[in-house]
Amino acid sequence: MKTVSKPVPPDSPPRPPAPFELEDLEGVGPTIAEKLREAGYTDLMELAVASPSDIAEAAEIGVAIAQRIVNEARKRADVGGFESGTTVLERRQKLGRITTHSKALDELLGGGVETQAITEFSGEFGTGKTQLGHQIAVDVQLPTGSGGLSGEVVYIDTESTFRPERIVDMSRAAGLDPTEALGRIHVARAFNSNHQMLLVQKAQELARERPIRLVVVDSLTAHFRSEYVGRAELAPRQQMLNKHLHELLRFADTYNASIVVTNQVSSRPDILFGDPTRPIGGNIVAHAATYRIYLRKSKPPKRIARLIDSPNLPEGEAVFSLTGEGIRD
Ligand code: ATP
Ligand code: MG
Repeated sequence: MKTVSKPVPPDSPPRPPAPFELEDLEGVGPTIAEKLREAGYTDLMELAVASPSDIAEAAEIGVAIAQRIVNEARKRADVGGFESGTTVLERRQKLGRITTHSKALDELLGGGVETQAITEFSGEFGTGKTQLGHQIAVDVQLPTGSGGLSGEVVYIDTESTFRPERIVDMSRAAGLDPTEALGRIHVARAFNSNHQMLLVQKAQELARERPIRLVVVDSLTAHFRSEYVGRAELAPRQQMLNKHLHELLRFADTYNASIVVTNQVSSRPDILFGDPTRPIGGNIVAHAATYRIYLRKSKPPKRIARLIDSPNLPEGEAVFSLTGEGIRD
């Protein structure tokens, strides 16, 4: 991921407190700290909410030691208790929204793409999933009040379909300087599902320095789908996908950021992926994604978006267009 050092805009989200060192935890010496680092555990919060057996396996340490580390991290991070409904409400009042540049689609989403949530765009090839990823990556950079969050973007590209040229077109049309807009999008190509998951950790590191308010994962499921083949692989695949989604959700909560993921629907019936018109990933994605939008083609350049799952919005449809300038009504 490429980082450009520029001053952080004034309305960036609250920064997390002072840097945390693994050695600060009681019982963690340099050897164990190194093992944890190698396994990718560097964040206090991450340790606090991790399962001891996961840590033990990843860092090749005993489960009892892992359990002690988790307990220490929980004490320090002050997690695990209840919070009042008021606190939950306060957090929800900080929710931000990002426009899609389509009024109809924004309305379907309850005012735009929400922060502290995962929004999934699914559909078959050419329905506009990647275009939407690009558009939202531009729009999050707009000032608050103009449909954006003055934010920067982590763009995890698993299919090599990120196109800077599209960002140039879309940002120009949105009134942003194209070169600056490109500089605020931190793109990483994910080579396999493991790498894809690692990139979420890298995103956390970046978010400590940059005001990252959006993570795009295009596509969420492609690597998982091609790597875990066959019935016997279904359970491990779902387990990893679940872990990935929860790491994304944690990012969304920590940085008051939006997570946008794309998901192809399988065009042929497949025992593993179920119904041919359903997004892949099954129940795991269904439970983790807060908003699920199913896209289908209509008379070009129109596309129809259907909200298929939301905790607080009615189901409905919106029509939008794919244009040279980006997503429009
Ligand atoms: P896949 O599942 O294959 O990744 P997708 O849902 O990501 O597909 P997109 O790549 O987002 O599909 O959409 C491709 C469509 O976007 C094209 O078919 C075209 O209609 C539209 N499109 C792409 N670039 C432009 C452009 N410069 N001007 C106008 N329309 C464009
Ligand atoms: Mg695509």
